[in-house]
Amino acid sequence: METKNEDTPTAEKTIFDAIAQGDLAEFKNILAQHKGGVDFFDENGMTALQHAAYKGNKDMVQLLLDRGADVNSGKHEYNYTALHFGALSGSSDVCKLLLDAGAKPTATNSVGRSAAQMAAFVGNHHTVATINNYVPRSDIAYFSVPQGQQTEPYLPPFLVEPLHKLVLGVNIHPVRLALNLQHTPILLENAEKVSKVLEMMCKKEMSKGSETNEVMAFKYHYLAYIIREINNIRDKQKPASDKDEKKHDVVEIFSKKLLKPGKDGYSLDLMDTFLKDCVREFPFRECTTFHQMVTSLTSKDSPPALTVINCTINGQRGFVDAIPYCSTCGEEKPAKKCSKCKTVQYCDRECQRLHWFVHKKACNRESSAPVATNNAKLNIDANELSSELQNLVAG
Ligand SMILES: [Zn+2]
Ligand SMILES: [Zn+2]
Repeated sequence: METKNEDTPTAEKTIFDAIAQGDLAEFKNILAQHKGGVDFFDENGMTALQHAAYKGNKDMVQLLLDRGADVNSGKHEYNYTALHFGALSGSSDVCKLLLDAGAKPTATNSVGRSAAQMAAFVGNHHTVATINNYVPRSDIAYFSVPQGQQTEPYLPPFLVEPLHKLVLGVNIHPVRLALNLQHTPILLENAEKVSKVLEMMCKKEMSKGSETNEVMAFKYHYLAYIIREINNIRDKQKPASDKDEKKHDVVEIFSKKLLKPGKDGYSLDLMDTFLKDCVREFPFRECTTFHQMVTSLTSKDSPPALTVINCTINGQRGFVDAIPYCSTCGEEKPAKKCSKCKTVQYCDRECQRLHWFVHKKACNRESSAPVATNNAKLNIDANELSSELQNLVAG
């Protein structure tokens, strides 16, 4: 007969304390000393993983998963899973770790709510989008293995990782996608293969019967469309001789096209036309998602196409106005501001640089007086940038 390990009750008690206090060092200590499994339960049937997820503690969640914690286990009285707790914590990173470890996004609690629904309930919209946009790596890896008579797979294996990352991305702003692609040149160099695989993923998703996720199918189509467009620009820009020197050109041209304001000075007419064409080209016109988008886009006072697409892919959002966005790429809560007028925000200098051709007029108008104090860390100096930019974004 097995004797119960004497130190277990202590380890259990202390590990819950360490999680509650966010004491990572102590937490690591306990794990290092404890040799057995890590699916500890507290008196309410919650596991250590669920506690760490609820705290939104990415490091602890990762350590428990590394030690083989069961991501779908739990005896919580209302059937909450670790993912439900991660969703409530609002940590998209924790949710992603749990999903990577096989957490079931469709699992519901005792009142029939999924993790994404709980996240929406408490206003964690980024987390909702992270869960709803989740695709297992295997869905992409499938295309990296030759099928049937194929001698070569549709997707070279080295593209699985970067494509997975692209697909999981929550920010679907075309300029953000262009910037991400620029930082992952391998995807752009294989743009034809990548967009073809995305189209196949779209078709495959639509043929899953009751399991079909129309929204994901549309997202695949959307990503394929954007990649193809950027690749077209890239092809035209590729002079035989100096293709490396003009690295920035593709994103520059693409974002200049999309961010150029229309006659009223602010609506992004070209972006709108470009994205409406994307919706129009979606091959599954009989599905609900397509109908909803078209209804929205053709209604009186219709919102911009980017808003419609973003709502479709990432879900309806509340309190949108309260969140600051990067004026260039739509990233939430950007770190920097234009130091001159402080009315626009950007992720970084690159985003400010790409937006300068639009913003320079408004900036000069807003800030007739020079700014006396300068929070150098957070602000990007428009004066300093402007001279640098004259050459780059002339016109
Ligand atoms: Zn940005
Ligand atoms: Zn400004």
